[in-house]
Amino acid sequence: MIERQSVLTCPTCGFEKAEPMPEDACLFFYECTNCKSLLRPKAGDCCVFCSYGSVACPPIQQERVAAHERA
Ligand SMILES: [Zn+2]
Repeated sequence: MIERQSVLTCPTCGFEKAEPMPEDACLFFYECTNCKSLLRPKAGDCCVFCSYGSVACPPIQQERVAAHERA
């Protein structure tokens, strides 16, 4: 099962917001709706959902599922 919604937590103000994730794209920039700071992925992460979301982005989720099936 691929989750298509992730709760982003702003590292600046701690504000949480559920955001829908594009299925096959990565969201690189995200502006916090509360404090307006621009979030960027941490080093090594492909998108803001991987860095600040409750759920990793769909491509990463699919990779994990595939890795699990190969094992
Ligand atoms: Zn914020």
